[in-house]
Amino acid sequence: MTSHIDPLLTLSPEDTERFGPDPQAAFRVNLAAVEARIAAACARAGRDRSSVRLLPITKTVPAHILRLAHAAGVHPFGENKIQEAMGKRDALQDLPIDWCIVGHLQSNKAKYLARFAREFHALDSAKLAELLDKRLEIEDRVLDVYIQVNTSDEDTKYGLHPDDLPSFIETLGRYSRLKPRGLMTLALLNADMEKVRPCFDLLRRLRDEAIKLNPCLTELSMGMSGDFEEAIEEGSNVVRVGQAIFGKRPTPDGHYWPGLLKP
Ligand SMILES: *Cc1c(COP(=O)(O)O)cnc(C)c1O
Repeated sequence: MTSHIDPLLTLSPEDTERFGPDPQAAFRVNLAAVEARIAAACARAGRDRSSVRLLPITKTVPAHILRLAHAAGVHPFGENKIQEAMGKRDALQDLPIDWCIVGHLQSNKAKYLARFAREFHALDSAKLAELLDKRLEIEDRVLDVYIQVNTSDEDTKYGLHPDDLPSFIETLGRYSRLKPRGLMTLALLNADMEKVRPCFDLLRRLRDEAIKLNPCLTELSMGMSGDFEEAIEEGSNVVRVGQAIFGKRPTPDGHYWPGLLKP
């Protein structure tokens, strides 16, 4: 007995090696496990479950496999790279999917993002904000944005320095098509949670200040497969989880986060 939604779909040997013989069933099980861990973390922190949103991260998962994920209840989809997101969006246009971009965007790609993204979690420059606002105007769309902050004090390229946040928030007030929702960070990629937690704690304190400048900046987008429970305990509202749902990625993480990988 199989639960595949597309009877014509045949999985390649690579697919079954990476996602198992029945990816849809596997995703359902993994999703339930992640949900249970989110609920338990909320309970530990004395928080309401509804205060935390799960944003599944689908990067490197091929479009035909994402069909099965969607049928298993995985939604919305968060992608790191805009080109990859566009390809999947074209392949899955028949499905009602909200696309969220969570990775650094080059300014010359702003026009693509403006066409279809629902949320952008890596806003980190005034130049990009201006370009996005212009392009959104042309598309007659709005975009929920999260300001990316560098909380790990590493020499990574991405994210605003905490000191630059107040003036950046003020600048954002000029752009009517951008809807600031909160702050986002990538914590230090480290198995030692005593080094990870301070990143989350810092983002929460920055949010508490940011909200005084713009009352819409209520959300904290922080926590991934390796640290989302700690992030929830530290106040996260959006956890961006990939591998705990889809299994291990074939690509090394340094591909996405230059500078963040430290032994
Ligand atoms: C890939 C990615 C995640 C999810 O990482 P996992 O280890 O797969 O949970 C979260 N945030 C960003 C920005 C990512 O690129």
